[in-house]
Amino acid sequence: MNPTLAEVTRQLLQVYGRYPRKRLGQHFLTDPQVVQRIIQAAELSKDDLLVEIGSGLGVVTTELAKAAYQVIAIEIDKELLRISRDILKDFNNVSFVGQDILKTDLHELVLGRRYKIIGNLPYYITAPIVEQILKAADKPEVAVIMVQKEVAERMVATPGTKKYGSFSIFTQFYAEVEINSFVSKSSFHPWPEVGSAVVTLKPHKTPKYKVKDEKLFFDIMHAAFQQRRKMLRSPLSEYNLEEAGLDLTRRPETLSIEEFIKLAGAAKP
Ligand code: SAM
Repeated sequence: MNPTLAEVTRQLLQVYGRYPRKRLGQHFLTDPQVVQRIIQAAELSKDDLLVEIGSGLGVVTTELAKAAYQVIAIEIDKELLRISRDILKDFNNVSFVGQDILKTDLHELVLGRRYKIIGNLPYYITAPIVEQILKAADKPEVAVIMVQKEVAERMVATPGTKKYGSFSIFTQFYAEVEINSFVSKSSFHPWPEVGSAVVTLKPHKTPKYKVKDEKLFFDIMHAAFQQRRKMLRSPLSEYNLEEAGLDLTRRPETLSIEEFIKLAGAAKP
């Protein structure tokens, strides 16, 4: 009988004398059903160029390499990189990039080619990674990422709900976003302290929202959410917003993206 992903993971750590590094968000996925769910959510096929963020021990990478045409695996931990090179030595469609994802230029890796992203993300840098993906010069067709459950809920939240805020607007401004499934702590080794969710992001191919001044739009939105329980006119008092035609006694958390765009369109500092 083949060993389970959990057994392979534990054995690799033991043989190479390694402990997972909490500081680097090392919680290895050991549930084969979740791995398959991720592959299906990305609709991965033998035509696909795939960038994997945080490839870890390479156990998940092995499954990705079987399903994709080519995999570029990015991992900051040099020891894990060595282990994954070892276990993937028979695959000729995997290349490794041993560096910080936040210092990696996706464009240089994919050079204008069509590509997808999969990543069981290091949770301590989820927001900057999502920002990097959604603002990339070459955006992926789809990114299927494992994030903390709370963060996933914020990404998909709609106006008027508790979790709705600047991260919801940021994400939905650039992409269609969906929670594919929730994942229990027992699907990882070691167990994380928080629940997880698989999120599918499909960046808009052409901008979905027309905004005259994107920086001003995000500045206003962030300023408003600094005081999410106050009436709009309070956190935004430095802008002249009368022409927006919106009720400025409303709370920021009730405004749709379109309404924030209206505010930004009318804003006169
Ligand atoms: N893909 C593996 C899996 O699913 O079992 C590992 C996922 S683990 C949650 C996150 C991985 O991201 C770890 O291997 C960690 O070393 C790596 N990592 C952490 N910070 C990183 C960074 N700034 N750039 C690239 N990789 C990073």
